[in-house]
Amino acid sequence: AAKQSGRGNVREYDSSFDSAIQDRIRLEREIQRGIERDEFFLEYQPIMSTHDRSLVGYEALVRWQHPERGRVPPDQFIGIAEECGLIAQLGEWVVRRACRDAASWQNGLNVSVNVSPIQFTTSDLPEVIKSALDDSGLTSNRLSIEITESTFLIGNQIIDILKRLRALGVGIVMDDFGTGYSSLSHLRNFQFDKVKIDRSFIWDMIKRPHAAAIVDVILFLGRRLGVDIVAEGIETSEQLAYLQERSCSLVQGYFIGRPSQTIAEKPREEVLESPVPA
Ligand code: C2E
Ligand code: MG
Ligand code: MG
Ligand code: MG
Repeated sequence: AAKQSGRGNVREYDSSFDSAIQDRIRLEREIQRGIERDEFFLEYQPIMSTHDRSLVGYEALVRWQHPERGRVPPDQFIGIAEECGLIAQLGEWVVRRACRDAASWQNGLNVSVNVSPIQFTTSDLPEVIKSALDDSGLTSNRLSIEITESTFLIGNQIIDILKRLRALGVGIVMDDFGTGYSSLSHLRNFQFDKVKIDRSFIWDMIKRPHAAAIVDVILFLGRRLGVDIVAEGIETSEQLAYLQERSCSLVQGYFIGRPSQTIAEKPREEVLESPVPA
């Protein structure tokens, strides 16, 4: 425990900082080992069209089944994998597995994969993706990649890389829209296939007019730009109805279906039973 330290005292040795570094180093080693030992796996969350309430595809979400820690959520290891340089390896594994899985789906639906900004700088992403498509036999138009606004911080070369990916036939989705840096200029500079409204706006749009206003404007913007808007984080029938009334074409969230290892063939019963707005 820390002793009382008054002004002018020499800063005491902070052992909690030291153990945080130890934890961190251990976690890095464990991620590396986890990749080697096949401890990572994917879950797939369905994405539904509001036009006919049919599923159009799934977002692949990486999970880690750690031998001692149990299930570790991505928020607790993606950032570290990015900082210690393991994200290229983990990210390539994710792309390859998702392509292989999707190629085996009888329903022929699409798969969407999250890609870290670091994967654009430490690997030749179009090469990695082309190789994953070739090896799996998946048709390129069944694959999308999801990038966040922070990806644009790597510099102008991002536009060229995105164009190379587009040329492969892969869809490009802007994820978590509205929470990053100067988002509107990215929409001007690159034609995305889809834009996902961040779930923080969906979360309180029924209760808070300010959040609803932002959702409304993104939907309007999508129509003007000719970009499909995906709303993520739908948890209630009210949220679904609100979005459907405003012609939001695609939705994703626990109300539609939870991420799972086996793909859902249709939305949850509650969705199919909930009223369709006029
Ligand atoms: P994201 O790409 O925005 O993914 C959506 C997140 O929202 C997922 O969290 C999903 O489980 C969660 N979610 C979906 N519907 C609902 C809902 O109705 N309510 C709530 N509260 N949450 C919902 P998850 O799986 O924990 O992933 C978190 C983030 O980790 C992802 O956010 C993505 O940024 C990152 N991530 C996941 N898989 C990968 C991956 O393979 N590669 C990279 N680079 N990042 C990944
Ligand atoms: Mg995503
Ligand atoms: Mg998202
Ligand atoms: Mg998000």
